[in-house]
Amino acid sequence: MAKKVVRAAKSKKAASKKTAPDKRPDADKVTKTGPKPRRWTGAEVYEAFSRFRSANPDPKGELEHLNNFTLLVAVVLSAQATDAGVNKATRNLFPIADTPQRMIELGEAGVRDHIKTIGLYRAKAKNVIALSEQLIALHAGEVPRSREALEALPGVGRKTANVVLNIAFGESTIAVDTHLFRVGNRTGLAPGKTPLEVEMELLRVVPVEFMRHAHHWLILHGRYTCIARRPLCETCIINDLCKWSEKSVFLNA
Ligand code: SF4
Repeated sequence: MAKKVVRAAKSKKAASKKTAPDKRPDADKVTKTGPKPRRWTGAEVYEAFSRFRSANPDPKGELEHLNNFTLLVAVVLSAQATDAGVNKATRNLFPIADTPQRMIELGEAGVRDHIKTIGLYRAKAKNVIALSEQLIALHAGEVPRSREALEALPGVGRKTANVVLNIAFGESTIAVDTHLFRVGNRTGLAPGKTPLEVEMELLRVVPVEFMRHAHHWLILHGRYTCIARRPLCETCIINDLCKWSEKSVFLNA
């Protein structure tokens, strides 16, 4: 019995060792409340994007799709959801509903059934059917190549329109999601109080030759390296250029 008690005490000690609190600050909170980072020079911006290009010359979005229509639907579904979660749901949905007509035939309840693992799925199912109807009524069942026409579709805002214009039509748009918003502000590359301000600043500072892929490079950088709470500054390929005042705390993490 006594032995048991000792063993229990030991394992308690080991557990507490394993879960020792991380003393580093929450990077996301520091980003929101800390001093404003210095601005980048044009040469530094060029150098950063040159490195992104060398590391990943042809970056791709991570939302799975079969054509422009399923891309549009996937982006609509991705609002406040992860790409991985959306992909899991659409792997069964898209093979049976890859056109507006087929989506309408599946019906709102059918769409709902396929996407119920995604947040806000009821409203999203409604929007997917409504936008499919609108595509048939106004655009001969095709996804339009116009910001105004895209933003007039149910459930489609500026960010979604930017993603579709970039991926489907190769336009040099920059869609500012949570990752781009954080990276733009934290690094000082493109500070702004709103996603639109960050977008406008990126459009101003990113050299034309990098504009087409800037959105993908920054989203991947924010998703896998410049992570919200624990950025991987030590392995970051732009850590010498980044202007975040707290990066030294995370450089030897
Ligand atoms: S060094 Fe890199 S990972 Fe760290 S904050 Fe700057 S850009 Fe983000």
